[in-house]
Amino acid sequence: MNANSPFSNLQAELEQREADGRLRRRRLVDGMQQSRLEVDGAAVLSFCSNDYLGLASHPELVMAMQRGAGEAGVGAAASHLITGHHRLHHELEMALASFVGRPGALLFSTGYMANLGVVTALVGRHDAVFADRLNHASLNDAAVLSRASLHRYAHNDVVALEGLLANSPAKRRLVMVDSVFSMDGDIASLPQLLELCERYDAWLLIDDAHGFGVLGQHGRGVLEHFDLCSPRIIYMATLGKAAGVSGAFVAGEPELIAYLMQTARTYVYTTATPPALAAALLAALPLIEQGVARRAHLQRLIDTLRGGLALRRWRLDASTTPIQPLIIGHNDEALDASEYLREHGILVPAIRPPTVPQGTARLRISLSAAHSVADVELLIETLHAAEGALAQ
Ligand SMILES: *Cc1c(COP(=O)(O)O)cnc(C)c1O
Repeated sequence: MNANSPFSNLQAELEQREADGRLRRRRLVDGMQQSRLEVDGAAVLSFCSNDYLGLASHPELVMAMQRGAGEAGVGAAASHLITGHHRLHHELEMALASFVGRPGALLFSTGYMANLGVVTALVGRHDAVFADRLNHASLNDAAVLSRASLHRYAHNDVVALEGLLANSPAKRRLVMVDSVFSMDGDIASLPQLLELCERYDAWLLIDDAHGFGVLGQHGRGVLEHFDLCSPRIIYMATLGKAAGVSGAFVAGEPELIAYLMQTARTYVYTTATPPALAAALLAALPLIEQGVARRAHLQRLIDTLRGGLALRRWRLDASTTPIQPLIIGHNDEALDASEYLREHGILVPAIRPPTVPQGTARLRISLSAAHSVADVELLIETLHAAEGALAQ
């Protein structure tokens, strides 16, 4: 290390991270995003992806993106409010609004940007935000950036939230919550949360990153799952997970959408995404809507995993979604388990604190309709072997 470098203190921090076993490294992928992946030059069976319906490499989407690029070029060249708003974006917004049954929708470049933009546009210094403790980092960051007071309640604790709402003097109140929690796979008690928001006149921001495309008979997401509809819901979903492409959108009342278009800074001050992405997403929506067989297959894989695992020390936490958390406990053992699987050609990430609470280090298994039942059986068999091998 060069001690004269202006960044030598950063280098020291990186070395400390490495010594603590917290230094992360990227894996290099070749070829298409599929359940069988080429990673760091080796073929693996992957249970890491959010491509829940197997659309990321679907030939119809690939063709639609190529056609979109032929028609609109590869770049949007400007922000939406200047000249970047292409007819393909426009058609996609209308299709998304109608798909989730809301009056209007606004596209964002990513889910992270959508959450930052919405929360900072809607609340400020004298307002209050109420957030589930296990919410995604982008919602927490958004609340901090908004300068509103942030009240985090224990995971899915509706009673605790009611206490906070009842005691809040804030003029504007925003409750924000993941629909499907990204490290646990459980679903938020949205009907009860909505009822509280109605009683205490709060807005409800639902982040459906892991529900859109997956939940509901037609894959419309968590609103369809619970048959929820209310003008106070601010619905956000991402388009890089089950939809297989990239981006995000917010859907809701027309005045909400019109206001966000003017004031959400991550919408106003950024280049529109390439219209070809919108073309691919327009091709994805009918596949999601007609994806009943894909979702039934995914459910069968979830049942196969949950029914087939017979572990002695490790346990699968309750989850009805494709996110299946296998709780191992100790950080080192979770890492060893992930490493054992990798040596046997299976990729499952180990998730450790502070991403999850102390003592709940886990393997985060993500299932996709692109997996076969045999893939899941192989995972089960290898997990049984890993638990036995690591006990010695
Ligand atoms: C992935 C994710 C996001 C961020 O979406 P991107 O489009 O990947 O930026 C936001 N919220 C939740 C719950 C997520 O899982």
